[in-house]
Amino acid sequence: MILENAFISIHEKAVKGTLIYENGTVYIKEKDIDPEITITSPFINAHTHLGDGFIESVPRLDVKSLVGPGGFKAKMLQITDREKIRDSIKYSIKIMNGEYISSFFDFRESGMEGLKLLENLDFGNITPFILSRPAGKELDKTELNELLKLSSGFGMSGINDYPLHFLEEVSLYAKNNNKLFAIHASEAERENIDEILRLNPDFVIHMYNGSIEDFEKLIARDIPIIICPSSAIFFNHKFDTGKFKLDGIKIGIGTDNAMITVPSIRSEMRIAWLYFSMEAEKIIEYSTITMQRFTGKPNNILIFNKKPQKVVRDPFYRPDRFLKINEINFE
Ligand SMILES: [Zn+2]
Repeated sequence: MILENAFISIHEKAVKGTLIYENGTVYIKEKDIDPEITITSPFINAHTHLGDGFIESVPRLDVKSLVGPGGFKAKMLQITDREKIRDSIKYSIKIMNGEYISSFFDFRESGMEGLKLLENLDFGNITPFILSRPAGKELDKTELNELLKLSSGFGMSGINDYPLHFLEEVSLYAKNNNKLFAIHASEAERENIDEILRLNPDFVIHMYNGSIEDFEKLIARDIPIIICPSSAIFFNHKFDTGKFKLDGIKIGIGTDNAMITVPSIRSEMRIAWLYFSMEAEKIIEYSTITMQRFTGKPNNILIFNKKPQKVVRDPFYRPDRFLKINEINFE
């Protein structure tokens, strides 16, 4: 099979050209063309908080009052039945499976208790990357050990919510165990990027209020920035989207809190197009290959018989076909 004039975003590379498929082996010939079709890896939702999807009515509060420690969401989690929370997580997983995503990265709050909410859930074809978090602010190595046994690493709220030395220890603990460490950064206000970088994050979430200088430092360290367009709109963050188009930047796309928006990466890609006015091809790249450095390279690809912008603008347009692959050769 020969697929010409394609935009191809698979196996950590985004190129234009021709894809040749022979018995599970793919050959890609790069060519400077105007793409008529779109070929991608399955999408990846780079940031979720699935545990708050049970909240049906969300007050319009600022970030701290709504999702910060001790805020509205934390209180709701305390008073809500565990099965009700699990049911809403199952609903989120159903939405994600309907979009053929390969992985998602969930920030699990509330220590071991929060982690256990996902126990024995059926994720279908999706590989979850669950980033847990210590319940308190005291270093407890037994707790860190237990959490890492059941998760892919740690996902922390923000640098100002903890003493820095605590976060340094938590990060070091993840790294020493070959696990991930990620943190929210400069969401509602600018935070100290040098302190954040001392934590060696694998990726950071938001950065809307980071300066160009902060962005340059993340780019120099090749640290991906995860944007969550719906949540940025909900919280009315005001920022110049131009910095998200700097040369060499690595961006992932996430849906953030399930109580604010359903965890549909396809809808979020559309909103990235509208709100960040990014190129459709970039948005596809960001939602497929940026996070493959953590997830590995999937062995299936999606084929859309339409231009990249159609794929991005229309979250209801599903792939026209799927291919299983064993090997990919870029020429
Ligand atoms: Zn978040």
